[in-house]
Amino acid sequence: MLQKIRAALSNYWGYDSFLPLQREAMDAVCNGRDSIVVLPTGGGKSLCFQVPAVTMPGLTIVVSPLISLMKDQVDALTDCGIAAMRIDSSMSPDERDNVISRINDRSLKLLYLSPERLLSDGFIDFLKKSQVSFIAIDEAHCVSMWGHDFRPEYRQLGGLKNIFPDITIAAYTATATEQVRKDIALQLKLKQPETLVGLFDRPNLVYKVRTRRSILNQVCAVIDRYKHESGVVYCIRRKDVDSLCAGLSAKGYSVAPYHAGMSDQDRKTNQELFINEKVNTIVATIAFGMGIDKSNVRYVVHTGMPKSLENYQQESGRAGRDRLEAECCLFYSPGDYGIWKGLMRDMPEHAQEIAMTKLNGIYSYCTGAICRHREISRYFGQDLEKDSCDACDVCLGELKCIKDAMVTAQKILSCIIRLEQRFGAAYTALVLTGSRDHRILDNQHDQLSTYALLSDYSKQIVHDWIEQLTAQGYIAKTGEYNVLSVTPKGWTVLKGNATPRLLQPKRKDSPELKLSKAAKDSWDGVDRGLFEALRAVRSRIAAEKSIPAYIVFGDAALRDMARRKPANLDEFLQVKGVGQAKCEQYGRTILDAIKNYHTNKNSNPHT
Ligand code: ADP
Repeated sequence: MLQKIRAALSNYWGYDSFLPLQREAMDAVCNGRDSIVVLPTGGGKSLCFQVPAVTMPGLTIVVSPLISLMKDQVDALTDCGIAAMRIDSSMSPDERDNVISRINDRSLKLLYLSPERLLSDGFIDFLKKSQVSFIAIDEAHCVSMWGHDFRPEYRQLGGLKNIFPDITIAAYTATATEQVRKDIALQLKLKQPETLVGLFDRPNLVYKVRTRRSILNQVCAVIDRYKHESGVVYCIRRKDVDSLCAGLSAKGYSVAPYHAGMSDQDRKTNQELFINEKVNTIVATIAFGMGIDKSNVRYVVHTGMPKSLENYQQESGRAGRDRLEAECCLFYSPGDYGIWKGLMRDMPEHAQEIAMTKLNGIYSYCTGAICRHREISRYFGQDLEKDSCDACDVCLGELKCIKDAMVTAQKILSCIIRLEQRFGAAYTALVLTGSRDHRILDNQHDQLSTYALLSDYSKQIVHDWIEQLTAQGYIAKTGEYNVLSVTPKGWTVLKGNATPRLLQPKRKDSPELKLSKAAKDSWDGVDRGLFEALRAVRSRIAAEKSIPAYIVFGDAALRDMARRKPANLDEFLQVKGVGQAKCEQYGRTILDAIKNYHTNKNSNPHT
């Protein structure tokens, strides 16, 4: 069986090795054992069921929650030369009949449908007479009320085991919590399932956190790092989407908005413009994302702090599904904490407690000064194996530890005491930096011995340090107005017995800023000019076939082509991500494009 699986992986997808746990997941299905596979986004879950589906004799049923996801996967499989179809409510009776006849003549390998359709009476009877290899349940966390995306229709899948007692069921999700995992097994009534849980860290994502200042300029700086590439910018409120979008358009960026206040049609149009790469950046509320399988999203920017690390991991996780480097940049303001806290005020006590714990978790992620990958992994109960992730602002050295952290912290803590522990962070930062704000003069706080002690620094940086000291437990915030007070741990600093870590962003042009390891590896040996030329060819093919560009070839395959520069079809087949069907369909066009590129380069060596 392993041989068959390897052959299918290479012939259809053009891959010669497995990603972590893929082989085990495929084995479970082929051996007829129920399974739950938990891998992060981009972990290669789809192949875990698609490869066995093409090697097994019958039809594989794939349950999926959204038409857009089904369409994307069916298009991708078809382009790899695999017989896959979907049935959904948007299809005409003729189209549906066509699918049924393909099942009847046993020429179909994968059928995608919604849980409602699978469990409808007529369909169950029909399937009982067909040869079903196994049932794959994609986005299986939708079955659990503990998950972030519960769907009542998914609950009905609990009946499958009674209806098809002998058919293997395999469930796939990226949701990490153990509670959800257990609930999936319970709800689906899986029989002694093989549970495979991967590592949640995604080393290709570079995490960065900055305080929000001039958000338009900050967002532009990120977009400028990824010219002509795709990205998502999340805002908390609709009106922020509209104003940021207007600001970016005025500066000439290719952007479109997406939020729940727009009509369905406008939303659909903008989503398609983004997927088909007619628009580079989508500015959206979190209403945007589910059902977007676009693999080459190179950055996800948050212009405000989300309410939990779960939310952040999910939203930022839409970057870099193709496993190539991508950037997740979070701009927060200490005020975001207050906004979320205010919104949680009316929750029932228990729910509020949970929500506040989550809020504190993301806030300490923002203000803390430890490796972001480590902090996210720990939050989900795992740890990083290596000391440095080489892929976050802390480990890449974009932030530097200030040298006189103890003295600086002592100045801040003393000021809080001089202010009788009655003021918040913003006010304290103004006093420390020597502001002439009328409130300070009215309160005669310009007379304090700690007034202007940190006047060499901006008020934003001092504010950041106050937040960092809070996250590290040296300062506490209490009451509705988040009044600062010095904790017992803070007193150890005042007595000179502890040194906190205080960070400050390095200047942008610092020569020490490094590329992440993923970026270095994925561009290694790639002719960037050729990559751009191939991107243009890919767009043309995609437009002709009316499928998204990333389905024609992923960015990873395109970079491998621009690295290997194949000169004939045999060499083209060696490219990772090029199987037989892609080679037959696009081989000639790509080889010609490579040849033309070289000819032009040789005749114009300076272009
Ligand atoms: P998930 O569903 O877990 O988010 P996907 O199935 O979309 O992940 O796969 C993520 C990316 O990894 C895709 O671009 C896919 O082509 C690629 N991939 C999957 N399996 C392999 C493999 N064995 N070798 C190389 N790349 C792979």
